[in-house]
Amino acid sequence: MPRRLDRTLAVAAAALLVLPAGTLPARSESDPGLVATIAGLQQRALADDTAIDLLRRLTVEIGPRFAGSPADRKAVEWAAAALAALELANVRREPVVVPRWVRGAEEGRIVAPHPQPLVLTALGGSVATPPEGLTAEVVEFDSLESLEAVADVALAGKIAFLNHRMERARDGSGYSATRPIRSRGPSVAASKGAIAMLMRSAATGSHRFAHTGATRYAEGLPRIPAAALAVPDADILEAQLAAGAPVEFYLALESRRLEDGLSANVVGEVIGRERPAEIVLLGAHLDSWDTGSGALDDGAGCAIVMAAARLIARLPKPPRRTIRVVLFANEEFGLSGARAYAERHRDALARHALATESDFGAGPIWRFATRWHPLDLDRAAPLAELLAPLGIDSFGNTGRGGADLIPLRQVGVPIADLTADGTYYFDYHHSEDDTFDKVDPRALAQSVAAMATLAYYAAEMPDPPRRVPVGETQ
Ligand SMILES: [Zn+2]
Repeated sequence: MPRRLDRTLAVAAAALLVLPAGTLPARSESDPGLVATIAGLQQRALADDTAIDLLRRLTVEIGPRFAGSPADRKAVEWAAAALAALELANVRREPVVVPRWVRGAEEGRIVAPHPQPLVLTALGGSVATPPEGLTAEVVEFDSLESLEAVADVALAGKIAFLNHRMERARDGSGYSATRPIRSRGPSVAASKGAIAMLMRSAATGSHRFAHTGATRYAEGLPRIPAAALAVPDADILEAQLAAGAPVEFYLALESRRLEDGLSANVVGEVIGRERPAEIVLLGAHLDSWDTGSGALDDGAGCAIVMAAARLIARLPKPPRRTIRVVLFANEEFGLSGARAYAERHRDALARHALATESDFGAGPIWRFATRWHPLDLDRAAPLAELLAPLGIDSFGNTGRGGADLIPLRQVGVPIADLTADGTYYFDYHHSEDDTFDKVDPRALAQSVAAMATLAYYAAEMPDPPRRVPVGETQ
């Protein structure tokens, strides 16, 4: 198990243990009381087992929790009970209608020239093949662009194989370059006449698990079945194609859509002492794919925001404004919870002082970025200084927020990002191998320390950051 703790984390943790409260960033413009409170929060977070205990329970007692499934409903009840047990206030379930889809049986194998079964899994939302499966010749492409470039009937009756290798990167940038293949690939392939699409998993690492994820069919084109091959299985297919003889592939998927179902955003709060109507939103998503137990994606995020809120709830004096934990429904298969939240709280969005989302694994956090009004950037500097002892660098005003924050970003809510080290995240993401053992408790605790720092600072600022100008790139 190649999980490693970043060296900076160990250094930062060691530094904090010997740092008396109140001696944090010397250049900070923050008042001494705030600095001392945050130093105390950080020290308690680094020694706290709440997050790892929550994550263990979520993965053991619930496991996979695809939106609208019985396990998802169980997860909603679990989360509401857990937030109440952490002594958060106003714990509630806000109903969300979610689309439902089930994977069903799936099978893939090379039929010729050298027959053998391959490991694959349907992309989320894929239609089924005919019940007897389909067999066709495979045509390989190294990118979506090269597929887009071929003539409209070039793939008539064939299977397109998108064979792009995702790059390993600490910031996860390899995923942004690969995800369009999964989301758009099936419709682009269909526009060229293909009857199915295979892709190399959007993943790093080389275990023999396939990585799923949502695909999106374009209007007006045939909906063709689509699946991701495990990385070593994509290698086998690639090697047979490279030998030059036509490769025939058999694919059978039973996946299907069901009627819409019901889930919920699960909410809990620390009520602000002076401005309770102003909200600092800490988000994560409660749903997961149906394959792994959703430990890294996004059980860890849920545990981080829950544990951070609990530490703040236990302070002798609550922060100035309200901290609201939102565990969003159905991030993975269409952002239903994010949309429902923005709709339900539309009139209150102007009073959302800040939003952040933890949805990139279990840490450690290595960088911090804002998406604030340009006139407010100096007000983020003391926060960056407070995060520095945890080994976190500032990346300026480059923040984007997680997927569940898109509707908030679109109306100018100030955003802050605490980015986890994603070097190994995509070895497991969206696969059967996303399980609890991949999580390092110390990295998770450091993430809680960072989240508590951000949340308390934002909730305690005398005035919230200005609204962010909404531009064309929103
Ligand atoms: Zn996620």
